Amino acid sequence: MYYFDNAATTKVLKPAADLALKCMTQMYGNPSSLHKMGLKAEEILDSARKSIADVLNCEQGEIIFTSCATESVNIALFGSRKNSKHTGKKIITTSIEHASTAKCVEKFEEQGYSVVRISPKDVENFSKSLINEVDEKTFLISLIHVNNENGLILPIEEVAKKAKLKNPNLLIHVDIVQSFCKMPLDLSKLEIDLASFSGHKINAPKGVGGLYIRKGTKILKRSFGGGQENNFRPGTEAVPAIAAFGVAAKINRERMDESLKHYYLLKNHLVSKIKYNSDIYINSPAGCAPYIVNVSIRGIRSEIMLHFLEQNGFIVSSGSACSGSRKSGVLQSMGYSKAREDCSIRISFSTQNTISQIDMLVDAIEQGQKKLIKSC
Ligand code: PLP
Repeated sequence: MYYFDNAATTKVLKPAADLALKCMTQMYGNPSSLHKMGLKAEEILDSARKSIADVLNCEQGEIIFTSCATESVNIALFGSRKNSKHTGKKIITTSIEHASTAKCVEKFEEQGYSVVRISPKDVENFSKSLINEVDEKTFLISLIHVNNENGLILPIEEVAKKAKLKNPNLLIHVDIVQSFCKMPLDLSKLEIDLASFSGHKINAPKGVGGLYIRKGTKILKRSFGGGQENNFRPGTEAVPAIAAFGVAAKINRERMDESLKHYYLLKNHLVSKIKYNSDIYINSPAGCAPYIVNVSIRGIRSEIMLHFLEQNGFIVSSGSACSGSRKSGVLQSMGYSKAREDCSIRISFSTQNTISQIDMLVDAIEQGQKKLIKSC
């Protein structure tokens, strides 16, 4: 099987898995215990926090561990309500958010908050349209950095800077799940207050995520217990998963430049092979992240092509893993037609993928085109 669904989840790196196993079978103390084994577990947590903080160029104290990015987004967004007391009840977000943000925002809407969703259909004017909406009532802006379906990169730096100039009291949350450890992000230089990310997208196990809370940012704490993770996520920390997260973050950070080069190579090769096929459309234009390529195969629904490719040894996805076979509407909100979204597949790379795997994948897609069109 050739795995091209790395935007959904990734294989755990061996050194990360090794440390997790050691934390389960040998160094299994509770980080809150005062004895030697507890102190060792605390050391492991600190080291993982440092590795994560190094990726984002922030302080260790600004990182809290959660169970996944969805939990981080929930803590960030619902915690930000505290800020609406000083400002107003307006949220600005985008029409291409992952469900973790989109569903939280829907809840706010049900509770009477006003929500403005900016579409990046007109990429050039995206920032301008968003900033035009910022007013004294806006308490929160929540933006995805790299879209999980086609890799579109939103200008978080520009938006954050201009939005804060217009209303210094609002909070800015960014979903960095698909950019964390994949492209440089220096939070010390950005006007971002909160950022959510996940372990399983960067070769750590499932069950661990992170939230960046900029020093001095005041958000509500919604859970109560033993005080761990500065009371944002009380409960005994998942030390094995967190330890592995730290290792995966460190390794991916060290390899980031090399990995990016590899992804560009793969994407350029894929695009150069399919651009002559007039029935395949590329939904990830230039400027998108190089590790996610979304294409539509005319006349063949995503699920049909996905299963054909699977039978032939290739794993791809039909959109966001979280929406299953249901389409999210994200591609349509970027300006693509419904038919194009219905026929879209997402190909997402790891550094393990090779040029010859891309050749085989394109051959398989083209075989599928011949076979499946006939059967339609
Ligand atoms: N945000 C984006 C952009 C994602 O791609 C995902 C996962 O697919 C999430 C949030 C949610 O991450 P998790 O699975 O860790 O909750």
